[in-house]
Amino acid sequence: MASFGSRVWSRLEKTCRYIPIVVNTVLVFSITAEVSYLVVVEAPRDPVQQKGESSAVWKSVHLFCQYFMLGNITWNATLFLRTSPSIRGVFLGGEGVGQGWRYCYTCETHTPPRCSHCYDCNVCVLRRDHHCVFFGQCVGFRNYRYFLSCLLFMWAGLLYAVVMNAEVFIVILKEGVTLHSVMLLLVPWIMLVSGQVSARAVAFAFIADTCVVGFLLVSAFLFFHVALMLRGQTTREWYSSRRPYSLGLLANVRECLGQHWYLCWLCPLLPSPLPGDGIHFLITGPLEPAGGPARR
Ligand SMILES: [Zn+2]
Ligand SMILES: [Zn+2]
Repeated sequence: MASFGSRVWSRLEKTCRYIPIVVNTVLVFSITAEVSYLVVVEAPRDPVQQKGESSAVWKSVHLFCQYFMLGNITWNATLFLRTSPSIRGVFLGGEGVGQGWRYCYTCETHTPPRCSHCYDCNVCVLRRDHHCVFFGQCVGFRNYRYFLSCLLFMWAGLLYAVVMNAEVFIVILKEGVTLHSVMLLLVPWIMLVSGQVSARAVAFAFIADTCVVGFLLVSAFLFFHVALMLRGQTTREWYSSRRPYSLGLLANVRECLGQHWYLCWLCPLLPSPLPGDGIHFLITGPLEPAGGPARR
C-alpha cells in the first residue's frame, strides 16, 4: 500500500502537469482580449475616423480574424489533448514483430518501429515525436496534425498581436530610450510595485512583452517541426541523425496531415484520414545512424 507521502506527491505531480495548460490558456485569452481592446477602443487614433463607416468594417474584419485564430488554437489544442497517441486500445499484431520492433519492459509488450515509451505519460506512444510540456501530453502519430495546426495559428496570432502592439511600444518609447521606458518594457512588475507607473501601463507592457517573447519561441518551434515534417523525421530521429522513413516531400506531409493536407489546417473539423496506421512504415534508409546504434 502506498504511503501517505507518496500519495500526496503523486497528486501534487498530477496537479502540476495542468499548470502549463492553465498558464497558456490565460495568456492566449489575455492577449486576445488586449488586442480586441486595441482594435475596438483605441484604433484608429484619429477621433473623426473612429466614427466613420470604414472604421466599423475595418474593426469587424480585424475581430473576425482574431476570433478565427483563437477558435483554431483552442479547438486544435482540445482535439490534441483528447486524441491519445498511445498504444492503449490499439491492436499491434503479433505477427509484425521484426525489423524496428522492440520490447518495452514497462508496458510488457512488443512495440512497432518509431514507437517509444514516455516516462511522463507512462505509456508507449505510436510514432512518438516528443513529450510536450506545454500541453502535458505526448505528440505522436494520431495527434500530430492538431499539434502542427495549433502551432501555426499560435504563430499567426502572435505575429498579428506583435504588429497590433507596435503602438504600445511607440507610446512607451515616445519619451525616448530612457531608464524609465526601458525598465517598463523589461521589468514592468517592478515598476508597478515601486509605484512608478499605473497598473494599466504595466498590463499593456507585460502583454506586449509576452507577445514578442512568445512569437520568437513559437516561430522556432513551428519552423523546426515544419522542417521535420518535410523531412519525414521525428525529433528523436533528428537527434540521432536518421531519416529511415522519409517518403519524399509530398508523401511526408501527407503522412503527418492526412489525405486532405492542403485544406485540413484551415479547420480542425475538416476530415483528413492518415494514410498509415502508425504501426507499419516503409523503410527507405538505414535504421541505425552511421556512427553506431541509435539511442533509446
Ligand atoms: Zn512502454
Ligand atoms: Zn508523454
